[in-house]
Amino acid sequence: MPDFYDATTHAGLQRYFDSGATRSFEWRREQLRGLDAFLHEREAAIAEAVHADLGKPVAETWLTETGYLCTEIRYALRNLRRWMRPKRVGVPLHYQFARAFVEREPVGVALIIGAWNYPLQLCLAPLIGALAGGNCALLKPSELAPATSALLASELGRYVDPQAIRIVEGDGELSARLLEHRFDHIFFTGSRRTGQAVMQAAARHLTPVTLELGGKCPVIVTEQADLRVAARRIVWAKFLNAGQTCVSPDYLLVHHAVEERLLALMKEALATFYGPDPKLSPHYGRIVDERNFHRVKALQHEGSLVTGGGAELSSCCIEPTIVRNVPADSDLMSEEVFGPVLPVRAFSSFDEVAGLVASMPDPLALYLFSRDRSERRELMRRIRSGTVCCNDLLFQASIPGLPFGGRGMSGMGRYHGKAGFDTFTSERSVLCRSGFPDPDLRYPPYTACRFGLLKRIVTFFS
Ligand code: NDP
Repeated sequence: MPDFYDATTHAGLQRYFDSGATRSFEWRREQLRGLDAFLHEREAAIAEAVHADLGKPVAETWLTETGYLCTEIRYALRNLRRWMRPKRVGVPLHYQFARAFVEREPVGVALIIGAWNYPLQLCLAPLIGALAGGNCALLKPSELAPATSALLASELGRYVDPQAIRIVEGDGELSARLLEHRFDHIFFTGSRRTGQAVMQAAARHLTPVTLELGGKCPVIVTEQADLRVAARRIVWAKFLNAGQTCVSPDYLLVHHAVEERLLALMKEALATFYGPDPKLSPHYGRIVDERNFHRVKALQHEGSLVTGGGAELSSCCIEPTIVRNVPADSDLMSEEVFGPVLPVRAFSSFDEVAGLVASMPDPLALYLFSRDRSERRELMRRIRSGTVCCNDLLFQASIPGLPFGGRGMSGMGRYHGKAGFDTFTSERSVLCRSGFPDPDLRYPPYTACRFGLLKRIVTFFS
């Protein structure tokens, strides 16, 4: 696979798409099966590469990368024929004889820019949608996960059609240069700031974009929550991949009556998951690079420490850290944490909760822990977000039938399952009429009598 991308390579992808080779059901099915084979046959190499990039435990890589992707592929393969089928639409009587339907056309050549925190998933999950949609695609993995990027670049072409799928390796500058080309769709995962640059570049060619951005995702625990379950699940979700997950709970709002108990249970869960010294635990991930290490470390000492607080530069490890009494205007509460530090604030009313969340950009995910359905409904009604998960975390992103994406500052567009297919196809309305009948009524000259009759017919049958 080439490690460069120029006008000739771009034209090659465009020509291949124009040849129609990628449109058939069989081609799409072959590509999805190829991707599945890549994930199965190279599972060990993938786990090794992701571990080299992020210190991710093998089980986590399977759960959040390979296993997750295989489920998405199986779902796409099961449903592809149905998704591709044109949908018939009713035609009013006065337009008969006619057939109307909506079909989904491949968009063409898509650019997929992935982020490093789930280096395989964030490149290949959009690719599943692109392949199911019958497209060519150019993939640009993140340079911050070099081992996974290299594996994709060297191996993927053996499993999927290399004329349709290309991978380029390089840094953000390379991505910026890629954006000078005209693509038919740009699918970007990353930070808000880069997302804005991507959208600006796309505007030059009027290219549609999907932006999967980050944001501050609140987890809210009410008095009615099962505290033991909440504690275990919050700790697991927050410290998975060392907190470097876009849908990770960014801050915790807990009813003051249950704050002490919840924090005690969370400390207990932490000790059970990662032992007395998480730095030594093979089940705990690492911070991706020194820049992020220093950024997150600076956040560790805002508010008062509940647990954690340690950090070790040589292993890029930041201990799972929980802090409380964090001021609303602190860095920890205003920026996306994207690391293993969890700020906690106690609340006494839902007004307070809704006001605090509304003062920040719309979150990608909202997490609610309460056994009381009316409480959950009220919070869902009052707080906007891209996705919601009640009494658990993260798994809303693992259900292929649930579209995934943000709103407002946390992004635009959706993928996963059918939503991915829809993103990489464009809806085309088609009307096919017969030559008969062909009454004079619609044609000039429009006499008063003809026009009156035309109006009556159209109004009657509409
Ligand atoms: P960045 O925005 O820095 O990078 C994302 C991707 O864009 C990388 O491939 C990067 O390349 C590339 N890139 C960098 N500069 C440019 C540019 N000028 N033009 C085009 N592409 C560019 O994101 P982060 O690395 O900071 O990733 C973390 C962010 O991503 C967090 O905010 C997180 O919440 C969000 N995210 C969102 C997800 C979602 O599904 N909504 C999922 C995962 C993360 P390179 O890395 O090689 O420099």
